[in-house]
Amino acid sequence: MATAEITPTTVRTADTPFTNEPFVDFTTAKNREAMLDAIATVRGQLGQEYDNVIGGNRLKTSGKITSVNPARPSEIIGVHQRAEADLAEQAVQAALAAFPTWSRTSVAERATYLFRVADLIRERKFEFCAWLTLEVGKNWGEADADVGETIDFLEFYGREALRLDAVTTPIQYPGERNQLRYMPLGVGAVIPPWNFPFAIMAGMTAAAIVTGNTVILKPSVDAPTIAARFFALLEEVGLPAGVVNLCQGEGPGFGSAVVAHPKTRFIAFTGSKVVGLEIHESAAKTQPGQIFIKRTILEMGGKDSIIVADDADLDAAVEGVAISAFGFNGQKCSACSRAIVDASLYDAFCEKLQARVAAIKTGDPAENFYSGPVISPKSYNKVLSYLEIGKTEGRLLNGGHAIETTEGGYYIAPTVFADISPNARIAQEEVFGPVLAVIKANGFDDALSIANNTEYGLTGALYSTSVAKLDRAREEFQVGNLYFNRKCTGAMVGAHPFGGFNMSGTDSKAGGPDYLLLFTQAKSIAEKLGTTK
Ligand code: NAD
Repeated sequence: MATAEITPTTVRTADTPFTNEPFVDFTTAKNREAMLDAIATVRGQLGQEYDNVIGGNRLKTSGKITSVNPARPSEIIGVHQRAEADLAEQAVQAALAAFPTWSRTSVAERATYLFRVADLIRERKFEFCAWLTLEVGKNWGEADADVGETIDFLEFYGREALRLDAVTTPIQYPGERNQLRYMPLGVGAVIPPWNFPFAIMAGMTAAAIVTGNTVILKPSVDAPTIAARFFALLEEVGLPAGVVNLCQGEGPGFGSAVVAHPKTRFIAFTGSKVVGLEIHESAAKTQPGQIFIKRTILEMGGKDSIIVADDADLDAAVEGVAISAFGFNGQKCSACSRAIVDASLYDAFCEKLQARVAAIKTGDPAENFYSGPVISPKSYNKVLSYLEIGKTEGRLLNGGHAIETTEGGYYIAPTVFADISPNARIAQEEVFGPVLAVIKANGFDDALSIANNTEYGLTGALYSTSVAKLDRAREEFQVGNLYFNRKCTGAMVGAHPFGGFNMSGTDSKAGGPDYLLLFTQAKSIAEKLGTTK
């Protein structure tokens, strides 16, 4: 591939400062018009059929995956191939074949592909926002945050790869030249969820390939089109065939066959606890012909709490809880699903929260309503069943029902249950929808112990004006991402390396300085000086 074809608009080095992609200001008429135009343009491209691409070869399968708009299920976003388990062998072989050349391609060149893709996404930002709005039901701001994070991952991991490439050992032993090199692992499976279908999908893929690995990318069946559009960008910048092999398919079946394959060296997964544990178990089982221990990078679910202490700014806490719980309809691993409120503020908090949530407007995300549909009939039915559980476990403050529209979208009213016991199902199980449990705490000790009483440990926040309480939370609040006096969602690449404790995963800290190490194996090389000619 001629380097000229992948030259980014601006050349970056390891020292080029990283800054987060700015958010689009949708209050300006110009940006609103740009978004509406992009939605109209993308609507003109809906319903296309996309291929799986293995080793550069475009493949069709007899089974198909049809992606629909969750706000208007009759609107088909894209039709995709459905790889079955028997395609795993071909996909792994294609990635294996590409590995020797790609792993020896310079880091600078590998990073340049990422930078060029970032440039293209930046140029077509509204278009990608529109795809996200139509395929998974993100409102404009949420779609923009997903696109911005995608750009950030590409920019950040490109720089990180260059930084790692320049690392030396801390000590040079006398008489030797000592090196520490971060070598790629081999062939990996990249298995993302549907809810950040651009950022997490592209981020895990970018981290894997910039470090010299080759991958099988198996997107979620609920968001295949975004992945196909991302793959088209990789082709556009001339990424060599076989470095990323796009295989749309179901998790059980194709996904699990790739995980179990003896040549799959690592699995980068983000998704639910149940599936993460299944992958962990399968990867731990050595297959005939396997000569390594598979590595798993598993980011899983959450049951995230915001503690509102007795000395909190009440209005700020109500606002932070509302947006953390109902941004993208609670369909974030970081979403607040438990507000743990000190008894002294409890009644006032519930009253203000009830009014704040009642003001949330639900409707089609293409028209930029704050709250949109949940992703699928499966999710809709799951959330509805939790509404019935919640009604038996607490006092309904808001919502508690589905919202029917003529288009048949999967809408559920933002729902708040108060007076929930810390051990109630609605307080313990990940619902992954617009459902919040409010729990009363008797003092800060009690609040902390309630916050730590789930099997998860992803995000958490504390609203308090007390330095002492913040200091205790730094030590005792068992989460991977802790926030003070702000929402518990919206981690920014570089500033908030992301990953959870306990059953929330392997705490991989995506977007942080340690992340790329997970995709490498370090090689220590010592050369006795003066021994070569
Ligand atoms: P999911 O676990 O249902 O699916 C995730 C991916 O795994 C999909 O691509 C799916 O096809 C695949 N899969 C399913 N079964 C598989 C199997 N047996 N073998 C291999 N692959 C398989 O999750 P989802 O519904 O797509 O996403 C929502 C979940 O993701 C929530 O639990 C949420 O908390 C979590 N999540 C976590 C993070 C994080 O960073 N911790 C971020 C986003 C989402």
